[in-house]
Amino acid sequence: MLKVASFGKLLLSFLVLLSFSLSFYADRTEAAYSFQAKVNADVLNVRSQPGTAYSIVGKLKQGQVVTVYEQKNGWSRISYGSLKGWVASQYITATTWTGYVTATNLNFRSAPGGSILGSLPKGTAVKVYGADGSWLKVYASTLNKTGWVSSSYITKQKPATTVTKVVLKVNTNIRKGPSTSYPILYTEKAGTFMEKLGVSNGWVKVKSPGGVVGWVYGPLVRDPNTVLKGKVIVLDPGHGGYDSGTMGKTYLEKTLTLRTALELKPLLENAGAKVILTRSSDTYLSLTQRVNISNNYKAHAFISLHYNAYSSTSSGVMTFYYSSSKDAPLAGSIQSSLAASTQLRNMGSKYGNYHVVRENKQPAALVELGFLSNPTEEKLVATTTYQKKAAKGIYNGLFRYFLTR
Ligand SMILES: [Zn+2]
Repeated sequence: MLKVASFGKLLLSFLVLLSFSLSFYADRTEAAYSFQAKVNADVLNVRSQPGTAYSIVGKLKQGQVVTVYEQKNGWSRISYGSLKGWVASQYITATTWTGYVTATNLNFRSAPGGSILGSLPKGTAVKVYGADGSWLKVYASTLNKTGWVSSSYITKQKPATTVTKVVLKVNTNIRKGPSTSYPILYTEKAGTFMEKLGVSNGWVKVKSPGGVVGWVYGPLVRDPNTVLKGKVIVLDPGHGGYDSGTMGKTYLEKTLTLRTALELKPLLENAGAKVILTRSSDTYLSLTQRVNISNNYKAHAFISLHYNAYSSTSSGVMTFYYSSSKDAPLAGSIQSSLAASTQLRNMGSKYGNYHVVRENKQPAALVELGFLSNPTEEKLVATTTYQKKAAKGIYNGLFRYFLTR
């Protein structure tokens, strides 16, 4: 008798344990496709099973938010705190939630298990507003359709969009496979950002901006985040104080050069560069003082910013260097990126005998950012849009210059 009782107890505790672990498992799987809904009746009966014939296990009030796990035949299986059961679906209003596709291509169907209307690629966001067993009713904005998908491939967690990029240091052959024995698909330009897909034997699998997938030799690419990191860059807003520089109808050169420097500084700093301004307010500095700052900081690059004056019809941007070995590569890189970004006439990079470049021990360039003597160009260069384009152009030029340095 004692033995039997113990066995019974053992069996009972085993069953309790079993049902507990089953319900725990069920809750875990349900979490993926449950959704919230609000009670829209004054009082709503919660029943043990889906049907008015079943017993009432609890009551809900208007506005209470329940979790819905399953919907069928006009009934919803819900929980509210520890209260679990079934309610008539018409008395609850679904609160939608956003889900994300985890399958490579998820079938999008007309009904639970119904015909395929289309497919949703991995990472697609959908609005979930209903469930039926293991199926979710979703709205996919990419298809502009409402349909059903399997709940197994929908997660509430927003996928991390970790696209890693590499930048090409030089013009680079993109090959079909990871060695020179594979054919060349095409040649991509230096400075192009490519999506990094993988690595094999020192070769990097990449995807071009145009969508071509191929391989590049590892030493020819670089992590773009490292290019400007730690570079010491001195920005020299030309003129200042009693030296106004050239004058347009409205603007003084010294004001615009400072604006450009202050626009450019955060771009470079966000890329990890250390930026020093020769002046950050309307103050006078001699040319020698400006050069000294560059030399003292051992700048990796010194850029003097200026606006030009000649005739009322002159137009364009240009960059000066002094030394063809020390300065010309920097000036050339800045000039081509600046012209591309501003879309002003490209007057090229040229030799110029300017004190701040000539006396500089560090790579230096002097940039002319447009003509204040031309009233149309004066108006243009004073706009925030132009200032941002000019700053981005110089930034791009510095980025390309440091790509191989
Ligand atoms: Zn000037």
